[in-house]
Amino acid sequence: MDNKTCKVNKKCGGCQLVHMPYREQLEYKQKKLEGLLSPFCRVEKIIGMAEPYYYRNKVQTAYFYDYKRKKNACGVFQSGSGRIIQTDACLIENKMAGEIAESVRALCDSFKLRAYDERKGFGFLRHVLIRCGYNTGEIMVVLVTATPVFPSKNNFVKALLKKHPDITTIVQNINPDSIPLTLSPRSKTLYGRGYIEDTLCEMKFRISPESFYQVNPAQCEILYKKAMEYADLTGNETVFDSYCGTGTIGLIASKNAKQVLGVELNKSAVKDAVSNAKINGVNNIYFLCGDAGEIGESMAKEGEHFDVVIMDPPRAGATEKFLKSLIKMKSERIVYVSCNPETLARDLGILTEKAYEVKAIQGVDMFPHTKHIETVVQLIHK
Ligand code: SAH
Repeated sequence: MDNKTCKVNKKCGGCQLVHMPYREQLEYKQKKLEGLLSPFCRVEKIIGMAEPYYYRNKVQTAYFYDYKRKKNACGVFQSGSGRIIQTDACLIENKMAGEIAESVRALCDSFKLRAYDERKGFGFLRHVLIRCGYNTGEIMVVLVTATPVFPSKNNFVKALLKKHPDITTIVQNINPDSIPLTLSPRSKTLYGRGYIEDTLCEMKFRISPESFYQVNPAQCEILYKKAMEYADLTGNETVFDSYCGTGTIGLIASKNAKQVLGVELNKSAVKDAVSNAKINGVNNIYFLCGDAGEIGESMAKEGEHFDVVIMDPPRAGATEKFLKSLIKMKSERIVYVSCNPETLARDLGILTEKAYEVKAIQGVDMFPHTKHIETVVQLIHK
């Protein structure tokens, strides 16, 4: 496979491994996983992407006004510093999204709308969030603006749709806050439904401007299928989907389970999870909003039992409280989905002390060219 090069990689900092041919990146990730996890079990060969470019279906572009050229400019935020790095050809972002972001820039110029200037407290557009449905092809454009007033709004929307007829919805998010790349709760739908839908593993998911959705759906589907293989459901099991986000894994599991409980800390993710269950007509799943450790502990105390636990914690891994509650609940199988092999190794250490045995470990490359590694692990009760 040809190895594409990125001109702004050093400045941007988003793709730490892009200088390595993709095959070497996979070897590097495999070695890292083996170093951390082979004391528990043999590590299966990491599943890479056949075409590891332009995979990000969530693209965020920042805008600024170039006073010298008297034009709007756009680019990506530099990792860490928040500086905007101009780029016209990101190797990992969805190509169409990049083209839309550039059209928004050019349209702002022709409609005399300036990008917001943080120092002067003046201007209109802060950033643009574009999300693309991988299987549906639906496209959402969120224009994040500093002010609610949008001069020539209707003509702007018309012009953008004329250039990109594939856009299915356009939303204005009014965000007076200066934290880079954030959305405020205040959104106005300018065109379409205000959200898009995508399908993953034959389930439909609604993606609103602020909902969490995996950025690489193609690899995510592979990851979830592996997780389901490890969960080994026959239709009779009770399943605990902890750190469930918008309910994706639990909903996929619900087709082959008796009942699923999803637990998630983030309120709006739980709201999305409930509506995802509704649009898929799933009625054997229910959700609780709260800390997985607290809820796990109280369920363990009450003698609650689940046949299978699926856990997908954030980078910090699970809490000791949560892991202890799992040991107490004695589920037959645990499927641990992890986005950080270091905290995964730490948590496996606790789970395997007495109660569990690791049976399988599989890395999936969800984030080619970056240092991030996703892993799925199967544990069986001893
Ligand atoms: N399984 C989901 C989301 C995983 S991301 C998917 O694949 O789409 C991890 C999730 O854990 C996030 O949604 C985050 O909000 C949630 N989370 C973080 N800390 C938590 C805690 N202490 N208790 C419960 N959920 C938590």
